[in-house]
Amino acid sequence: AVFQRIDQVEDKVKSYITLTREQAETQAAEVDKKLAAGEAIGPLEGIPLALKDNLCTEGILTTCASKMLENFVPPYTATAVQKLYDANLVLVGKTNMDEFAMGSSTETSNFHLTHNPWDIERVPGGSSGGSASAVAAGQAIVSLGTDTGGSIRQPAAYCGVVGMKPTYGAVSRYGAVPFASSLDQIGPITKDVTDMAYMLNAICGHDPLDSTSANLQHPDFTKYLVNDIKGLKIGVPKEYLAEGIDAQVKNCIKEAITKLTELGAHVEETSLPHTDYAMPTYYLLATAEASSNLARYDGVSYGFRAADAEDVVDMFKRSRSQGFGDEVKLRIMLGTYSLSAGYYDAYYLKALKVRTLIKQDFDQALEKFDLLLGPTSPSTAFKIGELIHDPIQMYLQDICTIPVNLAGLPAISLPCGLVNNLPVGLQLIGKAFDEGTLLRVAYTFE
Ligand code: GLN
Repeated sequence: AVFQRIDQVEDKVKSYITLTREQAETQAAEVDKKLAAGEAIGPLEGIPLALKDNLCTEGILTTCASKMLENFVPPYTATAVQKLYDANLVLVGKTNMDEFAMGSSTETSNFHLTHNPWDIERVPGGSSGGSASAVAAGQAIVSLGTDTGGSIRQPAAYCGVVGMKPTYGAVSRYGAVPFASSLDQIGPITKDVTDMAYMLNAICGHDPLDSTSANLQHPDFTKYLVNDIKGLKIGVPKEYLAEGIDAQVKNCIKEAITKLTELGAHVEETSLPHTDYAMPTYYLLATAEASSNLARYDGVSYGFRAADAEDVVDMFKRSRSQGFGDEVKLRIMLGTYSLSAGYYDAYYLKALKVRTLIKQDFDQALEKFDLLLGPTSPSTAFKIGELIHDPIQMYLQDICTIPVNLAGLPAISLPCGLVNNLPVGLQLIGKAFDEGTLLRVAYTFE
């Protein structure tokens, strides 16, 4: 049924870079046989899955939507993906994204645009735009994305689906092509909160192959799917409802607050005073880490290699000039600059210190509250082409999501109403490794 849906809508939505149809149909037939024989199957067995194209899949193209990796077939599979294979989900395909996950609209993909299923003249958000649009359009039932500064939550919000960035360290990053390693996390995009709980059960957990993976037992997340939030303390950072947030988006958030209050939660205003510094801090740290991570694409070991090089240095230059798109080059240059000897203290080191202040804001707020609440994004999905030449406005789409990555905390985006027939995302931010409380509150909207 999912492939029939893909046949109907994919030429309009364009969620995918690669489809794995034959393999999926064989695997689905096996699950059908089990069902026909009356065999018990696992909770996610046979469920159609889409994967962002920066998650390594052995034997299947993994491009990061870049010319640099246009022919890259990884020799291994990401741990989170392997766990979903083990749970016998059926891979439908690899989804479109911003090149190397750098962007908020999926427009920096080297291959094609992806369209928002709610209005095909609008972007699906990004960088996990294809993973969000595929679930929203019924071209997959669940998907995985990655979130460095909002790339799961913002597209989930724009496409009217549920997206979670787990706590840093909750899900192994092994096999996720790195962008900014201290911020990157893999997480699910689903149609509802129940599916989210099952997906987290499948992908969370310690992995010796990722040195930043937390060695903790995670709870059974389905235990949090109870309709009871009485007495929970919810803080609303005033900076997340300030100027710059669309008035109608604010109204949807206020309605959600009213609903939670009626259900017995205590909702109160709070403050994250360093919020204004999150954007510059993120763009210093994320670009610095990216410039280092992307140094590996030199045309030697793998990826694109330019023809007609005069010598080895010329080959590096030509391969990187021709293999990377403009946004990626911009970020490599910014990152290289802030890491260079004369500027390291003034920019990179300072940004690290401000990151600590931002983290402390959250620590203090979360001492008083069980979770924090606000919009996922300042507005609803914008038109294709509207912001692509205005990087500052584009970057501002992540103003409410970026601080969460800097602090390493978990956050979920879920649909909370429509403005002009476009979905609005509600963001809930939790204490480290307390994804459960986020699910518990999110579930009351189901
Ligand atoms: N939009 C942000 C950026 O361009 C975040 C991207 C992401 O989370 N991968 O860096």
